[in-house]
Amino acid sequence: MKKIPTDVLIIGAGPVGLFTVFQLGQLGIRSCLVDCLGEIGGQCSALYPEKPIYDIPAYPNIKAIELVKNLEKQIKPFKPKILLDQKVEKIDEINKSFEIATSNQNLIQAKCIIIAAGNGAFGPNKPPIEGIDQFEEKTIFYNVKNKQLFDGKKLAIAGGGDSAADWAIELSKTAEKIFFIHRRNKLRAAPNSVKKLFDLEKEKKIEMVIPYQLDSVIGINGKINCINLRDLDGQLKKIEVDYFLPFYGLSSDLGPIKKWELQIEKNLLKVDQSTCMTSREGIFAIGDICNYPGKLKLILTGFSEAAIASHACYNKVFPEKVLHFEYSTTKGITNLN
Ligand code: FAD
Repeated sequence: MKKIPTDVLIIGAGPVGLFTVFQLGQLGIRSCLVDCLGEIGGQCSALYPEKPIYDIPAYPNIKAIELVKNLEKQIKPFKPKILLDQKVEKIDEINKSFEIATSNQNLIQAKCIIIAAGNGAFGPNKPPIEGIDQFEEKTIFYNVKNKQLFDGKKLAIAGGGDSAADWAIELSKTAEKIFFIHRRNKLRAAPNSVKKLFDLEKEKKIEMVIPYQLDSVIGINGKINCINLRDLDGQLKKIEVDYFLPFYGLSSDLGPIKKWELQIEKNLLKVDQSTCMTSREGIFAIGDICNYPGKLKLILTGFSEAAIASHACYNKVFPEKVLHFEYSTTKGITNLN
């Protein structure tokens, strides 16, 4: 395990987790952010990047992805350690400090934890295929990190939404052939994209395999030999491909958080509104995951909770110091050396 010392660990790099880096940084507190997604921004990046948000103070409207980019810029001076593609799994308390293990074998040592985990860890919805894990990250991928891997290859892409359609169109430029699989005749993707898919079928770049259900993936040592599909009458169709990209959307799950001995109410973490502290000393919760009377699940509420929790962390990080409240207009941007 790789040890990473910091003052405060922030679990979740959604808008609220990102702004927490700023609030902590202004108090001279170092932080480390962990998210199981491969990019920052939480729901804003994963669910609605192009949608305009109308209730961020001082922005009459701002696209979700632009808000994330601005937050990234705002926290840059504080040089947070950002660990992506890994889930926080286990928390151990040692001498009033914490050791937190991630799924990528990192061990973060922190004095406090701020949980900004939204609805829980985001992960891909996986097709219900037995033994799928032996192919994952070898020949089956739930997102595209390296497009070149698919150059000149035969691909199966499954799903009926925008991600499946957009990637099929994009990868058809460089792949040898794409089988586009969906269990219904009608796709949910944008009408323009659906038209493009059928145009590419005429050009023999894409074969539309609809309506077909996945039956099984056959292969050995993580390599796919073929994918078996069934039509609505149960008739079998075999397709030979090098890679399979199922795009069935994302879902979130509190998962490991349920094991951290925190008081949970309606699947949310109960906090003291005056500090955002959970039922465990030194562990705070803010943003969509926290609950108290009158809680509003909004980004602006989460930003305010970020400030409250950061101030509440101060005495735990610097027990020997007294916190003097100052406006940012007075102190400017704190320099963290
Ligand atoms: P999230 O954005 O959910 O981020 C939490 C992050 O934590 C995720 O990336 C997740 O992967 C990560 N995580 C969870 N558990 C773990 C773990 N164990 N290990 C590692 N990482 C973990 N709000 C508004 O204020 N105005 C709007 O107009 C608005 N419009 C919306 C439109 C849509 C379509 C949706 C879905 C939401 C909208 N919201 C809006 C709500 C807003 O997006 C949320 O309130 C906000 O994203 C909450 O931010 P967060 O940082 O608390 O959590």
